[in-house]
Order: sequence, then C-alpha cells, then structure tokens
Amino acid sequence: MTTISNRLQDILATIESARTANSPGQPVQLVAVSKAQPASAIRESYQAGQRVFGENYLQEALEKQAQLTDLNIEWHFIGPIQSNKTQPISQHFSWVHSVDRLKIAQRLNESRPQALPPLQVCIQVNVSNEESKSGVLPDDLAALAAEINQLPKLKLRGLMAIPAPTQDINRQIAQFKQLRQCYDALLAKGFSLDTLSMGMSDDYPAAIAQGATLVRIGSALFGARPAKAQG
Ligand SMILES: *Cc1c(COP(=O)(O)O)cnc(C)c1O
Repeated sequence: MTTISNRLQDILATIESARTANSPGQPVQLVAVSKAQPASAIRESYQAGQRVFGENYLQEALEKQAQLTDLNIEWHFIGPIQSNKTQPISQHFSWVHSVDRLKIAQRLNESRPQALPPLQVCIQVNVSNEESKSGVLPDDLAALAAEINQLPKLKLRGLMAIPAPTQDINRQIAQFKQLRQCYDALLAKGFSLDTLSMGMSDDYPAAIAQGATLVRIGSALFGARPAKAQG
C-alpha cells in the first residue's frame, strides 16, 4: 500500500534531483496543499516529517487548525482572498501567497496582530493573460511590490502563479519562464526577494528547472481530492 509517507519521500527525492540538476545551491521548499483533505491526513504527513501546509479555503482551514493545535505547523494561505476574510487570514497564517491587489495587502497589514512576526507574502501574478484568472498583470507588478514594501506588518518574499492548466508542457514552461522573468526584473530593480512559488503535482520538476524555490503539491502527496472543498 502506498502511504502518505511513501509519497512524501518520493516527492522529496524528485524535488532534490530537479533542484541539483538546476541550481544546487538553491533550496526548494515543499508546501503540502491539504485543501479538501481531513486533519488526519495532515497529521499523518506531519508524522512523516512535513511541517509546512497550504490551504485555500479559510473556514475549512480554521476547522482543521483547531484540530491540530498540538502540532508545530507553518500554515500558508494560497487561495483567493475576499476582503472580508483578511482579518482571520492575517491572524491564523504565517504566509499568504495570493496577494493580488493593494487593498488586500493593506487590510492584511492592518489586522496582522502586533505580537506576531510580519506576515510573509507573495504577490500572485497573472501569467496566462486571461481576464478570468486572478493575479496582478506583469506591467502592474513593480508598483504593487513598492506599495507592499511600505507596509510594516507585511514582508514581501516573492511571487506566486497558478498557470492556466494545460497538457502542453511547453506552454506550462513558458508560463513558469514568464514568472521567473517578472521575479528577475524585480530583483534588478532592487527588491529583496527569495521566493518563487510555482509548480504543482503535475509540473513541479519543470517549475524547479525554471527556478522555483517553493512548490505547492496536493494530490501527488495526499491522493486525489474528494469532492469539491468548501470554505
Ligand atoms: C490545489 C492547489 C495546489 C495543488 O494542486 P495539486 O495539483 O493537487 O498539486 C497548488 N496551488 C494552489 C494555489 C492550489 O489551489
């Protein structure tokens, strides 16, 4: 039987070989995406050594967090953010990957508790040029990054993208390349960043080859998700 622990070891080995083939000095972090998975699956991966988990839906995440308070988990919020949810997100997560407009950044900054370290954030970039996808357009990125750098309770760490799903690996690679170019352009402008959040179960080796420093993996670790998650 294939367990979460076996799959975790396989994923870590795949990450390691993609990483060493690309840039051996660059660490790559795994965020285990546990949306639609029960708290017991998170606990099982934790026991296998995984510490960082990503959730998309606030209500679902809060329920699981309440069942896992005995574990030292680093929680990442990776889902779309409605402005009326910014307060609990800023209180219950260490990282937010999906900041895509100034208003959301300001609200997260205002409600981040003073007692906690700054909220670690990535800006979500739209690399597929589809109106329906969330994310800031590459042309608007530097201005948003500069505004976020002014917010004392946020720490801008890098960029995130969810490329349009495609079977065409070349199109996927082109989207990763585009995010990488956005990231390099910000570094060239003097922004201090260390996180390129891209790559999911079906494409993370390709994302690492394009410079990902953080991959977000759900189904390859936990198995297929049960019916649609709510939150
Ligand atoms: C669901 C999700 C993932 C993980 O997707 P898998 O294909 O299951 O690995 C990663 N990132 C985001 C933003 C997601 O919503």
